[in-house]
Order: sequence, then structure tokens, then C-alpha cells
Amino acid sequence: MLIRCAELDGLRMDLRLREGRIAEIAEGLPALPGEDVIDAAGGALLSGLKDHHLHLHALAAARASVDCGPPAAADAEALAQALRRADGKLPPGQWLRGIGYHESVAGDLDRHWLDAVVPERPLRLQHRSGRLWLLNSAALALVEQSADDPLERRDGRATGRLYDADAWLRTRIGGRRPVLGEVSRWLASRGVTGLCDTSHDNDTAAWSVFAEAQQRGELLQSLRVMGSAALDAFSGMPGLQRGERKFHLHDHELPDFDALCADIRAAHAADRGVAFHCVSRVDLAFALAALQEAGVRGGDRIEHASVCPPEFLEQVGELDLTVVTQPGFIATRGEAYLRDVEEFDRPWLYRLRGFLDRGIRLAGSSDAPYGDADPWAAMDAAVRRRTASGQSVAGMESLTPEQALALFTSPLEEPGSGAPKLEVGAVADLCLLTQPWGVARNALAQVEVRACWRDGRLISGT
Ligand SMILES: [Zn+2]
Repeated sequence: MLIRCAELDGLRMDLRLREGRIAEIAEGLPALPGEDVIDAAGGALLSGLKDHHLHLHALAAARASVDCGPPAAADAEALAQALRRADGKLPPGQWLRGIGYHESVAGDLDRHWLDAVVPERPLRLQHRSGRLWLLNSAALALVEQSADDPLERRDGRATGRLYDADAWLRTRIGGRRPVLGEVSRWLASRGVTGLCDTSHDNDTAAWSVFAEAQQRGELLQSLRVMGSAALDAFSGMPGLQRGERKFHLHDHELPDFDALCADIRAAHAADRGVAFHCVSRVDLAFALAALQEAGVRGGDRIEHASVCPPEFLEQVGELDLTVVTQPGFIATRGEAYLRDVEEFDRPWLYRLRGFLDRGIRLAGSSDAPYGDADPWAAMDAAVRRRTASGQSVAGMESLTPEQALALFTSPLEEPGSGAPKLEVGAVADLCLLTQPWGVARNALAQVEVRACWRDGRLISGT
């Protein structure tokens, strides 16, 4: 493969890819007989992007679901239309899943309303609170068990409403995982060549599902898999890395401190780092105290670090931890932060420049599906630091476009360590833009990706 006229470190160059690597870089390279040629027309050639924190199966499930809440579904008629449209596209018998329902759309729904819209296919629709599922009769026929199952009943008959029973529902519908092909192709179309799945409950079964998805060619990116202690014994394979043991702290329900320290030591003894979900001051204080006590291994991570006041930032630096952040939340959730977060914490929200100035390794991610999966939207948010309505959130934490890009180009195994150099002999893990960097950097959210390669293989574009 020959890439002609790409912008590389500010110069227009031709690159030849061979056996997964960059084999030649020069001006005016002649094409070899039968060689594929792409004319980059001066578009910037960058390292392939990495999303250092997301949840792939949840993302695939969300993208395969009908959005049942406002603004996508404004009223009952709009919701019915959206469900019928999705019903028409699926093969017979396959579940139809809706998310984000709110009673402002069509009131308190039950099986009868759903049956009138989707009579044949099993349908389940999740309330925006995450606490309630609504099932039609075809769905109930598949999950109903006995009078003491958790389904709500009136006069002995299931209403279709199911409260706080996700685990039970999963056991009844077989817990099939969604296919990853569509979401993987979409990520590749945005230049993403590597992903880190940070779900804390990833176990040996999840590992096998990811490995098989890669082998089938359904999952195009290389993948790092965080998860439970069940992965301690795994060593990884080409394209699939074992990641950190993930601890999901909730500040209203913190684990026993000594048990947590023992778990950290056990992960380190298995030659494995640890990663902490920290979205509040309390989470972060607890994680830092545990790491101080149990000891730190290179590569231990703080995920989110959503609120990081100066005294904590100093500790993160002293412990030499890596921070993996989500600048995109400033754009998508900023209004809620300005409303709900105490004023004294607002300067420390999703900090960026503060970490870099202290010399802390900082990497970027989407946390999709909870955040927007588009890395370019996240980079734009890292530069602008503005909410959807244009209000500034801790504006002094803003990055330059180059710093924002660097959040997304470090290797999966060393987040925040900088982009690998694109030179002869380097692995051809590449993202080609339609425009030169000097143009792209001024409108990051509008960046278009022309093509991307993982290990020399074209995974998106032509
Ligand atoms: Zn997450």
C-alpha cells in the first residue's frame, strides 16, 4: 500500500506500508506493480486514535436500541412510529430494545399499549431512571416464571412492568451479548484503532467473547480488557491485552479498606495494575489512601478523576498515577454540573491542564455509551471547555488542539505517554484526515477521517 502526498509532521510525504509497518517515507515514491495507492491530497496523517475508557457491549446495546425519550420521541405517536420502524428492520423473533423512556412521552405504559404497537416480537423498553423495564406480551411469554417472580401483577396478571430486576431479567433472556460489528466499524470511521474496555465485571467469559469477535473480524480494533480478578491468570495475545483490575467505588457504599488493600496487593502480585473509578472527592480520597497503603505499581490508573482539588492532584503526582479522563462530559453534561456541583468544586471539574502542568500522565476517552463515543467531539470539548449552551466550565483547564489530540494517541498499554513516532519501521497504526492539521485543529468536532489502518491493515476508508 502506498499513501501519496500525506502531511506528516508538517511535510508532504509518500509512505509505503508493508507487512504491518511503515516501510518507506520519502517524496515522490513510485508505485510498485499492482500496489494499492491512496492519494491523501495533503490530509494529515496521524497515529491511530485510542479510546482509553469505554464499555463496548453496553455501547453496542445502546446503539442497537430505539431512543424512547425526549427529544428523539416527543410524544406517543412519535414513539409508536419509532418502534414500528425498528420492528420492521429486525429479523423475526429477535428482541427489540428501547431505552430512555420517560412518562412525559406517553404516560404510564403497560403491556397493552406496547402490544398495540409491536404485537408479534418480544419488546422491552427501559425507563430513563434505569430502574424499570416495560415488556409487551410476546416478551412476557418468554420471561414469565411463576407468581413469585419479580414481575408486577394486578389481579394475578403481569402488567408488563418490572422494577429493579435487571439481574433476573438477564437470566431469563439468556444474557446474550450484542454483536460489536456496527460499533467497531463506526469507531474505525472516526480513526479509532485501539480501545480499552473498562467494565469492572469483565471475566473469562467476556474475554472469550472479545477474542472471538476479533478472530471473526467483527471487532476491528486492538483491545485492552480491564476487569475482575478472574483475569489475573491471562497473559494476552496479539491485539488483545489484559488490562488493569478495575475497582468500581461508590461513595455511599465504600468497600472495607483492608480488604481493598489486599485486593490491590493481589493484583500487583499477579503482575497487574489497578484502576479506580473515581467520580467524587470521596471516591478519590479513598482510592488514594488505599494506594498509599498498599503501594503503587507503574501503570496504576485513576479513571475519571471528575473532581480533583489541588491537594489530591499533588497526591496523584506523588504516587505517579496515570489519569484517564473524559473531556466530552463538559459538553454533554456541563449544564447539569453547573447546576448540581457545589461552587467550590467547579474549578476542579474534569481537569486537564492542571494534570499536564504537574507532569501527570493524562489520557482521553469517551466512557461510551455514557459519553459521546466520538473522540473528535471530546477533543473539541477539551479545547473549548463549554457546555451545550456555551457556558465555560473551569476554562483555565483548556488544552491546545495538539494537547487534546495527544490525549487520544498514546498506546493502550501506556496511556498518557505520548504518540508513537511515525517513522520507518514503526507499526502502521494510522489515521488519515481529509484536511491538513492546520485546518483540522480549528474545528476538531468537524474533522473527517479519510482512512485508518491497524497493523498495516485498512480498517476504514479507501
Ligand atoms: Zn466507565
